[in-house]
Amino acid sequence: MTRIYNFSSGPAMLPEPVLEQARDEMLSVSGSGMSVMEISHRSKLFGSILAGAEQGLRDVLDIPANYQVLFMQGGATTQFALIPSNFLNSGSVADYVVTGYWGKKAAAEAARRGKVNIVVNTGSNGFRTIPDPAEFTFSPDAAYVHYTSNETIDGVEFKYDLDAGGPPVICDACSNILSKPIDISKYAMIYAGAQKNIGPSGVTVVIIRDDMLERVAAGLPPLFDYRAMAEQHSMVNTPNTWGVYLIGLVCGWIKDQGGLAALKIRNEEKARLLYNAIDSSDGFYTGRAERAARSAMNVTFTLPTADLERKFCEEAERRQMSGLAGHRSVGGIRASIYNAFPLAGVEALVEFMGDFSAANS
Ligand code: PMP
Repeated sequence: MTRIYNFSSGPAMLPEPVLEQARDEMLSVSGSGMSVMEISHRSKLFGSILAGAEQGLRDVLDIPANYQVLFMQGGATTQFALIPSNFLNSGSVADYVVTGYWGKKAAAEAARRGKVNIVVNTGSNGFRTIPDPAEFTFSPDAAYVHYTSNETIDGVEFKYDLDAGGPPVICDACSNILSKPIDISKYAMIYAGAQKNIGPSGVTVVIIRDDMLERVAAGLPPLFDYRAMAEQHSMVNTPNTWGVYLIGLVCGWIKDQGGLAALKIRNEEKARLLYNAIDSSDGFYTGRAERAARSAMNVTFTLPTADLERKFCEEAERRQMSGLAGHRSVGGIRASIYNAFPLAGVEALVEFMGDFSAANS
């Protein structure tokens, strides 16, 4: 069986040792004689698996004790609705920083539920930039400020922690969480669907500061209520047991790699190789994002024509590289190179890019 280089934006490649361990334990987890998918979520064994996954995230992200780690469902898209439902009441306003497709969606969902102030919207330049912090003016009494630390489709990434100077900061970190160290204490809440750097789809990790739980609106269904979820340790109902188990394995793998500091160096090296290939192509490849805003996770670029982009993806498939077509909303090419994506795969793509531009210029 050949594994191929999968540049998909998510669900994305998982570390091979994690897949192998999951395979080996598929029929009997921890000697129980049962698959992790067959055991009760209320069993002692699953309790320890859940506690292990939480501790794994706490260890690798260095999460302070005054934060809760929740395993929720419904993806990051559900969080777009839950955040205003929990924190935006009728008298208040929420500030949204919109630097790409997902931030725009988050703001639109919040606007269906309450008053939203768009602090900045880089859509007029095609979501190619990350503004300077000096460009932001926040509402002094904002219920919260929301931003997207890495825009998966547009390929732009914040290189700094957004500081709203008072209001709580909530960050959609779907596509760059666990790619580098992050100072959790600067955030009121960070959330991410698992399917890029954390594990499989179907689990959403929410890291939330204790004082935010005091602000949760009354009367929400318990599954939509961060306080209820925290009080019941993500077990209001049956959690995604398989997903939580894999998150624990991924955290173990991250530790084996030397932690987030080591992954950051590796990720930067992979991104540097790809951006170099773009910049040294005499204009055959054009990076979408402004240089200073370039994402280390999602490398987006275009070719001279859409026909060439189609041909590029087809030929890449023949070389065992898949998932390179850009999101349907923007087209172009996108190479997603999360933690588990190997350096050798990036080197293979760089080599192919050279061959392809030479043959088609
Ligand atoms: N935010 C970002 C930054 C994303 O990349 C994605 C998914 N790719 C989402 C939100 C939506 O996530 P989900 O599909 O888990 O709802």
